[in-house]
Amino acid sequence: MAVRPGNHIDGAWEVGTGSGDDIAVHDSADGSLVESFRPAGADQLERAVAAARRAQPGWNAVPVRERAALLRRLADRLAAREDELAAVMSREVGSPLAFSRTVQVGLPVAVLRTTADAVEELALEEQVDNVTVVREPVGVVGAITPWNYPIYQVVAKLAPALAAGCAIVVKPSQVAPLSSVLMFEEIEAVGLPAGVADLLTGTGRGIGEALVAHPDVDMISFTGSTAAGARIAEAAAPGVKRVALELGGKSAAVLLDDADVARGVRATVGSCFLNGGQTCSALTRLVVPRSILAEVEAEIEAAVAEVVVGDPFAEGTVVGPMASAEQRSTINSYIALGVEEGARLLAGGVGDEPADGGYYVRPTVLTDVKSGMRVAQEEIFGPVLVVIPVDGTEEAVEVANDSEYGLSGAVWSGDRARAVDVARRIRTGQVAVNGGAFSARAPFGGVKKSGNGRELGKYGLEEYFELKAIRL
Ligand code: NAD
Repeated sequence: MAVRPGNHIDGAWEVGTGSGDDIAVHDSADGSLVESFRPAGADQLERAVAAARRAQPGWNAVPVRERAALLRRLADRLAAREDELAAVMSREVGSPLAFSRTVQVGLPVAVLRTTADAVEELALEEQVDNVTVVREPVGVVGAITPWNYPIYQVVAKLAPALAAGCAIVVKPSQVAPLSSVLMFEEIEAVGLPAGVADLLTGTGRGIGEALVAHPDVDMISFTGSTAAGARIAEAAAPGVKRVALELGGKSAAVLLDDADVARGVRATVGSCFLNGGQTCSALTRLVVPRSILAEVEAEIEAAVAEVVVGDPFAEGTVVGPMASAEQRSTINSYIALGVEEGARLLAGGVGDEPADGGYYVRPTVLTDVKSGMRVAQEEIFGPVLVVIPVDGTEEAVEVANDSEYGLSGAVWSGDRARAVDVARRIRTGQVAVNGGAFSARAPFGGVKKSGNGRELGKYGLEEYFELKAIRL
């Protein structure tokens, strides 16, 4: 694979001019070096933002249908390159290959298409009394993304920004920038005018902070940890920029006493261990009636026993390695902490350092967890499920809401109306009733410390517009 340098500025590929260490991409399965990039320098950030500023009005003048057509062409090209992109993300992130194909590539492809549909359906002008209300693009967007779903996270910002007529400067995660570099080859190939979408590779503290503070960037769209999101909001405040934040989560699945235990447990374990647990919306707390705890625990043990941990390229692997050595050690510390806090280890435990250097952990379930324990409050971002027994529906709702996060959730009950009632009482951005499926057209985002703003569909698109009222 002939890899480009990590920066794409004003229509050309450039080697980074920044100081500091190379941005190194490691193979999660053995720790070996896959690729490295020189980080972008301050001069390159200046040129990328200037190019975006210059290019944005021309891009906004391109008819919506043509902008949508370009997004669809990009979707087709990413789909055509599925094998290579999936393999790269399986190495960068450790995602099992089949999952990389269907989700790591499939989801951004779907989001490009649904966003193209959404912009064609959106009225860019409407009349209110004597006023024409016009939707105008926000301008130049800075996008900063995490490593867990590397292409999807970029596309969830790039697709609506481009659809709205904005220009965008993307800084992907330093842990997994390679897939974004490959995607930018396709962005170049679909004929996007120079400067409309630029890529800068580097760290958060380096080029990331400089992008946030840049006076010519109108909006920052950030996905990542709550700590970094809060810092970014502060750095953006002096410029009074629009800031959209998609942050962490500690989402609860609430099993009511009349639930189908087998379905509820299997879905929760599946969600918690999805992508090795490195999913912001993962259901990581299972809230269970104490009266059926033993039945639930037996079901969990059976479900976890079927989870195959191993090489992301091996067929049948459900949980691959974690994305980085740092991630692995954080997860192991949390497992040890949970036991210290008095939780009972139902499955898994602290993993041994594997001989092959891969970043593997053991999918783990802690039970008899109390809601105040740190393992029930803090985002672990690995395959660790905590089971919290409660007495009655009121306490279940209280525990579900006993979190500084509010990103996702689930409710299981034999009585759908009862489940919907509980779902409405959980303070969160989205909640699935009896396994209700995800839709790329529905809003995705959080409340409380899980962030603000929404991505996906027409809701995500709205974030990239300003409203102007022209009184006639
Ligand atoms: P992170 O916050 O460490 O980094 C995310 C991105 O922000 C990276 O590109 C990083 O370089 C950059 N960054 C960090 N500090 C910065 C700063 N001060 N200024 C500018 N940029 C900065 O997160 P991560 O470890 O890459 O990802 C995991 C986190 O992301 C988890 O907390 C997870 O829940 C969250 N996440 C949220 C969503 C969501 O949609 N809500 C989706 C995926 C991941």
